[in-house]
Amino acid sequence: MQDILDDIVATIGKSDDRGNVADYIPELAGVDPNQFGICVATTDGQVFSTGDSEQLFSIQSISKVFSLTVALGHLGDGVWKWVGREPSGDPFNSIVQLEHEHGKPRNPFINAGAIAIADAILMKRLPKEALAEILSFVRFIADDESICFDSKVAQSELDTGERNRALAHFMKAYGIVKQPVDYVLGTYFHHCAIAMNCRQLAQSGLFLAGDGRNPVTGVRVISSNRARRINSLMLMCGHYDGSGEFAFRVGLPGKSGVGGGILAVAPGKASIAVWSPGLDEVGNSKLGTAALERLVQKTGWSVFA
Ligand code: GLU
Repeated sequence: MQDILDDIVATIGKSDDRGNVADYIPELAGVDPNQFGICVATTDGQVFSTGDSEQLFSIQSISKVFSLTVALGHLGDGVWKWVGREPSGDPFNSIVQLEHEHGKPRNPFINAGAIAIADAILMKRLPKEALAEILSFVRFIADDESICFDSKVAQSELDTGERNRALAHFMKAYGIVKQPVDYVLGTYFHHCAIAMNCRQLAQSGLFLAGDGRNPVTGVRVISSNRARRINSLMLMCGHYDGSGEFAFRVGLPGKSGVGGGILAVAPGKASIAVWSPGLDEVGNSKLGTAALERLVQKTGWSVFA
């Protein structure tokens, strides 16, 4: 495994065709696109990493997997009143489908869906309580108490996130969002602004690779049924309108973020985190996707194998 990762960093990680860093969040616009890290945490407790795998980055939409898990913990199947379970085929921040579908987002991993999930978590909770809960859940699954929010990134989105504000108001008009929009967006922007490195992120996905149980510590986090459902949503919806392409090329449940990270899950085998800040046209890490494609070719880990 270490040889495979070293080869990926030496080849794909050095590519000149790196895509473009997300610049609609000013705080992310200055991230050096030449960084590249990867970490594989296996279900038998081994951790392999290379490149810039200790460098913190903004996990952005990868956090939607964690906020969904927290919401499912509170509401169980009640969550599906807020969001659907279908791929969107639309860009991550699109408002078009919402109008056709009466304000109910297609799935929890597009921006509208994750904003609706933040609203669901805020039932009977203040934003600071919801955020404390999401952060402590992430620290628990990653087994790392040092994980924090990057408040500069959160502030940068609060200052510029008019499109997300529009989505939230639109859903409020339809009664999907019920809490004050400022509370909902404050919660959403902050959980997107959690900073992690590839090692922490790979560790955090182990419960999804272990059928709901962290295979290393033996601690059950969620039921197997719930883990399988989250993995299936990641496979179908984890890369916005690039989800089909990701399933075709990589064949693993995965969730990307505009910070350039991707968390991928090889059920029963490993949790993988890769980070390269340059994005492709649909907002997914360009080299991160290529790296996972190569990793799966070498390991045969596709869920369709
Ligand atoms: N916080 C980002 C936004 O709302 C998340 C987008 C992403 O990572 O894809 O635009």
